[in-house]
Amino acid sequence: MKHNGLSKVSSVRTADKKLYRAFAHLAADWIWELDETLRYVFHDGKAGSSAGLPGEHLVGLSRIDVLSAHFPPSAELAEHHQRMLRREKVDIVLPVTTDSGHRYVHVIAEPQFEGDGVFKGYRGCGRDVTRRVELESKLAHLATHDDLTGVINRREFERKLAELHERAKRTNDTYSLCFIDLDKFKHVNDTGGHHAGDQLLRELVGVIHKHVQPGETLARLGGDEFGLLLLSNTADARVEVEKIIDEISRYKFFWEGKEFKVGASIGITPISSQSRSIDSLMVKADNACYAAKHNGRNQSHVSDEEILIESAGANRIAMIRQSMENNQYKLLMQPIVCLSEVESFSRYELLIRLACENGELLEPGAFMPLAKKYSLMQELDRWVVENALLALTSLHASGEDVGVSINLSVSTLADTNALKRIADIFKQHKLPRNRICFDITETHAIRNIDGVSEFMESLRSEGVEFALDDFGNGLCSFSYLQHFPIDYLKIDGELIRRLSTDETARCITSSLHDLSIKLGIKTVAESVEDDETVSHIQAIGIDYMQGFGVAHLVELEAPTVLNPEFSILK
Ligand code: GH3
Ligand code: MG
Repeated sequence: MKHNGLSKVSSVRTADKKLYRAFAHLAADWIWELDETLRYVFHDGKAGSSAGLPGEHLVGLSRIDVLSAHFPPSAELAEHHQRMLRREKVDIVLPVTTDSGHRYVHVIAEPQFEGDGVFKGYRGCGRDVTRRVELESKLAHLATHDDLTGVINRREFERKLAELHERAKRTNDTYSLCFIDLDKFKHVNDTGGHHAGDQLLRELVGVIHKHVQPGETLARLGGDEFGLLLLSNTADARVEVEKIIDEISRYKFFWEGKEFKVGASIGITPISSQSRSIDSLMVKADNACYAAKHNGRNQSHVSDEEILIESAGANRIAMIRQSMENNQYKLLMQPIVCLSEVESFSRYELLIRLACENGELLEPGAFMPLAKKYSLMQELDRWVVENALLALTSLHASGEDVGVSINLSVSTLADTNALKRIADIFKQHKLPRNRICFDITETHAIRNIDGVSEFMESLRSEGVEFALDDFGNGLCSFSYLQHFPIDYLKIDGELIRRLSTDETARCITSSLHDLSIKLGIKTVAESVEDDETVSHIQAIGIDYMQGFGVAHLVELEAPTVLNPEFSILK
């Protein structure tokens, strides 16, 4: 066998040879030489233990065959072979599997040519760089991940956001960026100590992670703030983050025998080809999160509600703003008809409208996004309660016996202080309490079970009644009946509308009614729109019904008060 290059070493003095090897091994764990057919002509060092190769027995074997037989196929190995076959310099880290596990080998090899340019083989060396690679990947992990929770950090999140923004531009799809800020998290630190707070953050990452699909991203942005990149549009993202809010608000965290509960406010903004930059997206999501917080916490806010508002046109927005600023709200009354007995008073559900200069009477969908944007939801609820009580006082004084149902928004329900302010309004009015009923939406009430229960108990003791609204559209309905002391179940309009055509809807409605009888709760059918539905309702035995098919809306003629806090310009 031809023995070129380093083989000359063997012909020099033994002392020089030793010296040469000593130097070579300072730079490498093993050194080798190949002939022009890429077969080993020389090999020295501890390749056997590091890379799982047969060491000195390599002489005469093809390097490409040996490596292919001993190492798992990889892009790096393919590149190594390609370079050798093209007689190019090799400088590559190969992942290898040995008896002692996964390791990394750094291979450097220089092609050797005669003076006339004829290729005569390779001289190369190898070094086990497993520790270095592991350390580098540890450092890379540290640089991109959050220490406490193990999810990625803000810097890496922004990099992934940039990638998703590019993808949105390519595909024209819309994705969602969400900012989560925990509510009242400081209380956990203050009462249970920093370790308790740390542990809760770790546990809540687990809770949120269950809602993250493959390809989506969860990051800790700092403190009690998390970021989510969801591969769905904002409408679907909102459904998902509402589930996260539900789970976080129900999560019971125990530390040293004490129970803690927190909430979450989530801002959502669309990532689309129209999005300007990563910075503007981050600012929008942050603002949306702030709006969710400001609207009462424990809720989500979609920043494109603002886009929706803008799409109405500047003039129209100005008109709506002006009408809101001038307090041009009206209360309409939808009659609730009693089917089971003759009642001594008339019942109505109060519905809010905004009367515009051009004569339009706007439904909540047209002005509530603006009310949310200006954080007016709690003020609006107070306005409705205040005016409902004023109107009832005046109606009762004129001899009309009327009872009303009042809706409360998620903003108020999620905020115990806002509920206390509503309860305070009652102290200023002296009317029969049993003519007032609050409609509480189940999915909103479960966010703040303790606050809502306390509010209900304090007002019920005075005779105020409570209805659970939209019942039958949530999944946990039955279990929550135990938490809330209620008088009426308002069966969801979606279910009632299907009574004439859908046997399942009839079965569910009938079961809900039977359950209510057992619990001593009366039932109300919402959204009754035709006579056929009325006959199904009567056949099931439901106690009350309301809807356009039963009676039309009437305006509540009553004095209205202006709320000094109630300004969108404040
Ligand atoms: P809000 O409802 O307005 O969001 O108030 P909050 O009590 O949740 O407090 P805020 O969001 O304003 O501030 C977050 C707090 O989280 C501030 C800081 O004391 C605490 N915090 C920040 N980083 C850590 C951490 O790594 N571990 C723990 N335990 N607490 C942290
Ligand atoms: Mg917070």
